Amino acid sequence: MRKYKVGVIGATGMVGQRFVTLLSAHPWFELSVLAASARSAGKTYEEALGGRWVMQTPLPAKAAAMKVYDATADRAKVAGMADFVFCAVDMPKDEIRELEESYARLECPVMSNNSANRFTPDVPMIIPEINADHAQVIPYQRRRLGTRKGFIAVKSNCSLQSYVPALHALHDLGITRVAACTYQAISGAGKTFERWPEMIDNVNPLIKGEEEKSEREPMKIWGSVEGGVIVPATTPVITAQCLRVPVSDGHMAAVFAAFEQKASFEEIIGRWQSFRGRPQELELPSAPKQFIHYFEEADRPQTRLDRNLEGGMAVSVGRLREDAIFDIRFVSLSHNTLRGAAGGGVLMAELLCAEGYMD
Ligand code: NAP
Repeated sequence: MRKYKVGVIGATGMVGQRFVTLLSAHPWFELSVLAASARSAGKTYEEALGGRWVMQTPLPAKAAAMKVYDATADRAKVAGMADFVFCAVDMPKDEIRELEESYARLECPVMSNNSANRFTPDVPMIIPEINADHAQVIPYQRRRLGTRKGFIAVKSNCSLQSYVPALHALHDLGITRVAACTYQAISGAGKTFERWPEMIDNVNPLIKGEEEKSEREPMKIWGSVEGGVIVPATTPVITAQCLRVPVSDGHMAAVFAAFEQKASFEEIIGRWQSFRGRPQELELPSAPKQFIHYFEEADRPQTRLDRNLEGGMAVSVGRLREDAIFDIRFVSLSHNTLRGAAGGGVLMAELLCAEGYMD
């Protein structure tokens, strides 16, 4: 099989580095072009990083020597060098929207980790195990953009990647109300402890915009495709509090949920353990064999012990108990830069390749 040529926009960042690591050893994708800001343009990737490489595996030699392009000024060149691009940039939202749309119009599909297009009605926001069918809006988006091949697909925010899958496995019980408190790693802000020493021995109660995303994005993910757009779901009601905690990687959530129909703990745990989605059916290269793992041990999941489960692509759940206000409560965990960002983006791209949207 011919490998797809893929680019990374924002390659020098926290998520971009994850993409470079995952794509340097991918069975279907070959890293063909890297782009970032004008500050990095013209340098080799290693020079542009300038000591910022924070992955635990060494910088891949081929990527280190690749030239970095200016994502905006060189966009026609970058788009021409890739079958599609992954995009994770720190820029103002309106500029990101314009940048992503320009790549799509250059017939280069964009797999985005940014929030700018998450609520564009004909842009699918895909967690491949949950709403793979939302890709059906892509032909309508292409019609709006006037493209033959180009389109934008987005990944949802990293905060909800652990609890939305766990709730989705229970969705037909009629979820009415959810409260979630998240405990989020500093890599979610693109930071390490060296670059953010104020977070050592500290908890910060504000992650700007995160609570709105955590409450609103699940409604699009659980929405339905109608007339070429995604119509958001209207239930459940979700309330979220998102805290930054002194952890390098891994977002944990404490979740409370109420349902129309009651189910036994045995049934709930059974549903989690047997949950399979389209990536498992298609045996996509980045798909975890088991998406949701339930831990019987009372002190699991733990961020440091469990974030890398199944290559950081699985969701860990534990501490299922009755709740005095809601029906149940539990704890869930996922890796924010793997399942929650680059890994989730790569899995979404694999799904869209397998379903014929990249050809
Ligand atoms: P980051 O570490 O701060 O990296 C930002 C990247 O954006 C760098 O490659 C930077 O390039 C590039 N950039 C900045 N200005 C640019 C411009 N004008 N043109 C082109 N590239 C530009 O940020 P991050 O944590 O990787 O996050 C990137 C995106 O992913 C954000 O939208 C974030 O919300 C989203 N996201 C992050 C996570 C996470 O866990 N970190 C999870 C989900 C989604 P230079 O090096 O050249 O400045």
